[in-house]
Amino acid sequence: MDQARIDALRGQPVPPFGHLIDGKIVPASDGAVMDVTSPLNGEVLTTSARGTALDMETAIASARTAFEDRRWAGQSPAARKKVLHKWADLIEAHALELAVLGVRDNGTEISMALKAEPGSAAATIRYYAEALDKVYGEIAPTAGDVLGLIHKEPVGVVGAIIPWNFPLMIGAWKLGPALAMGNSVVLKPAETASLSLMRMAELALEAGLPPGVLNAVTGEGAVVGEVMGLSMDVDVLVFTGSGGTGRRLLDYAARSNLKRVYLELGGKSPNVIFADAPNLEEAAKVAAGGIFRNAGQVCVAGSRLLVQASIHDEFVAMVAQVTEQMQVGDPLNLSTQIGAVNSEAQLAQNLAFVDTAQAEGGTVTTGGTRVLQETGGSFMAPTIVTGVTPDATLSQKEVFGPILAVTPFETDEDAVRIANSTVYGLAGAVWTSNLGRAHRMVRDIRAGVMHVNTYGGADGTVPLGGVGQSGNGSDKSLHALDKYINLKTAWIKL
Ligand code: NAD
Repeated sequence: MDQARIDALRGQPVPPFGHLIDGKIVPASDGAVMDVTSPLNGEVLTTSARGTALDMETAIASARTAFEDRRWAGQSPAARKKVLHKWADLIEAHALELAVLGVRDNGTEISMALKAEPGSAAATIRYYAEALDKVYGEIAPTAGDVLGLIHKEPVGVVGAIIPWNFPLMIGAWKLGPALAMGNSVVLKPAETASLSLMRMAELALEAGLPPGVLNAVTGEGAVVGEVMGLSMDVDVLVFTGSGGTGRRLLDYAARSNLKRVYLELGGKSPNVIFADAPNLEEAAKVAAGGIFRNAGQVCVAGSRLLVQASIHDEFVAMVAQVTEQMQVGDPLNLSTQIGAVNSEAQLAQNLAFVDTAQAEGGTVTTGGTRVLQETGGSFMAPTIVTGVTPDATLSQKEVFGPILAVTPFETDEDAVRIANSTVYGLAGAVWTSNLGRAHRMVRDIRAGVMHVNTYGGADGTVPLGGVGQSGNGSDKSLHALDKYINLKTAWIKL
């Protein structure tokens, strides 16, 4: 990728964004807008529509009509596949534009955004385009005088609520399988990272998705998100975000139509380093990348480093050395390894975590401060805190920022006990040359995904979902399709 092409886009004016409802871009019903502030320099980039309750209701009604008249579900699988592939083509054709727009909005370093955002979103849409005509119903093994058929049907209207850290990638994880199975969708992007996702939604229409099948409404979670959650016309909610919002969504479902709710929540994922790790240098490099890329704003970030006591000091020094060499700065520079923190509020929260960690006996080994304040942007030095006890706040609470908590352990049993000592269970890793130990750790550590001698990078063929308070249900892989279908039995007397 050429830096000059990125630089040509970095200062371009961004037009105001509206909602996408019934195939048209429209303003809020009362004309209200929200400023979109860039975390790169604190400047207002553009505005987006500040959705009203009426906007969300109109979008849901449009999705309901589109579902009931079968304008999408009623098309042949081949026709639907063609539209989804065309959409992926358009995302790829606009990849640089989408990535730069997203970075200006949410601050992710461009090297990661290019790979994880449009690239991954297009691949996900293609994966589900290819899957959609390979999902068969079943014939049950009944007695001979009856025929039991199991149909797989779309559920109806899907409400998809997306966070700000990887809007295109996570958006596609919901939109790909939901649309492939013939549902209609109402999308609710995050307040602080909506632009690239709204643009990606527009491209779906250009690809031939019928109007009303995909609607997208921007605005505050507490306003438009709540209307979606309480709607009697939304059949499934799929959500990625914080546990607090996840709890609210369950409550909305209970107070309305008992809609299905799938939650992908936070984590406090343990990266466990044994003294017999095959290559400690590699482990140190990957451990630093596994927490600090995208300024730690990654749900599966390896935010707890558990190090066997015999190599603790040596290994922490190696991680610190890698960390201190990581380049924090202009997210639109291809060589930047750590971009901006998403907002000033998030940065303040990160710094408060450092203070708490120190008050509870932790030692800041590197980082711990705001940096590059002169840019007007929200940047934080990657931070390592050692001596963090398993019950400390930094071990227990998700920061969602560039802060690594380091805790020593002695034995395998210690490692498992400490790894499992949070309410979360999203991801984790073990580094060892001992095959038996690797498998035992994979079995015993509570998580949706465990890595062995690596961290991150699991592709779209495998599921990602949490256990415990990290959520339920999975994104990615063929398993994700289950969230977007109903099973219907036809019991036929012969
Ligand atoms: P958040 O819960 O504040 O917001 C997520 C989305 O929910 C936003 O679109 C927001 O507008 C919406 N929302 C907020 N209040 C709402 C309400 N009352 N009703 C309906 N919608 C509402 O989370 P965030 O700060 O955007 O994202 C960070 C969190 O997401 C972290 O905890 C992180 O771990 C988690 N996350 C999880 C995964 C995963 O796959 N498990 C992936 C990425 C992020």
